[in-house]
Amino acid sequence: MIYDLIIAGAGPAGLAAGIYAGRYMLKTLIIEKAQDGGQISQTAEIENYPGLRTDMEESGLTLTERMTEQVKRFGAERALDEIISFELEGEIKKLTGLSGKVYEARTVILAMGAHYRSIGCKNEDKFRGMGISFCATCDANFFRGLDVYVAGGGDSAIEEAIYLTKFARKVTVIHRRDELRAAKSIQEKAFANDKLHFIWDSVVDEALGEDVLNGLVIRNVRTGELTTIKADPNDGMIGLFGFLGMIPNTDRLEGSGIELMNGYIRADESTRTNIAGVFAAGDIRTKELRQVVTAVSDGATAAYQAEKYLAG
Ligand code: NAP
Repeated sequence: MIYDLIIAGAGPAGLAAGIYAGRYMLKTLIIEKAQDGGQISQTAEIENYPGLRTDMEESGLTLTERMTEQVKRFGAERALDEIISFELEGEIKKLTGLSGKVYEARTVILAMGAHYRSIGCKNEDKFRGMGISFCATCDANFFRGLDVYVAGGGDSAIEEAIYLTKFARKVTVIHRRDELRAAKSIQEKAFANDKLHFIWDSVVDEALGEDVLNGLVIRNVRTGELTTIKADPNDGMIGLFGFLGMIPNTDRLEGSGIELMNGYIRADESTRTNIAGVFAAGDIRTKELRQVVTAVSDGATAAYQAEKYLAG
């Protein structure tokens, strides 16, 4: 079977592309390796996507479920598989799955998204979701009145650290250099906030605790000195949030001929890549604002472009 369109990835970008491809009556296959939704499948609350319901708490999962249902109504086929190699340069594109299956189509939309960079400390996996988080909006409430630490020094780290001060007793940013990467306007707000503190030239070396996170070992990257921070005995626990940037899921595209920039697929608002018939939608492409609303916009555009390409 040669499809008109294969969409790799069923996050918001891929699902929106599926809806639009259905409207264009394209014979479409959407391939996803895990559950639909991508990054938002981990998001407890979504509040900045237009038109969300206010009579129920909207999580990333509930929003995704409705998108998935909508895609079904438009008739796209689905496959549960992880694409491990992409042959994109011919007229017929060939995608090989971990299952061994080869999927073929005339056009491809790459919508595999991006993931958070891990903190890289000892015991990170042990405490993920048990004291270590990558989403302040999702988890800030669990750390109400406690001491919270934030790893990173970019816009996300500092904006989220400011947000966390509304919940935590004290928020301490741990940054590997002695100046922040975040925009000056964000820095100004941060330095004026009494609840925000900084540990410079340092990274988190180890997360400590039995069942809950109750301490950190911090390493000074200049001197190598290790310092242990313990939770206030009355609290018994602390929180650690990681905002160290995103990593685009493009490693499987190596050797495919797709042009990357800083790891992201080089594509503008048209979503066209350097290869004819191949489009990039959502967080995986070069862009300034990575949000659900911009991902679904890309998905619609990419499906439109695929249809235009197929129509010659
Ligand atoms: P980012 O700008 O790439 O910042 C990542 C931060 O993590 C940097 O401070 C970096 O340190 C640090 N870091 C990276 N790897 C590390 C490691 N292995 N160990 C310790 N620290 C590490 O990422 P981001 O803050 O998520 O922002 C991503 C993009 O979204 C940026 O273009 C940003 O401007 C944009 N954004 C904009 C807004 C806004 O305008 N309101 C809000 C959020 C994000 P170094 O500084 O030393 O490299």
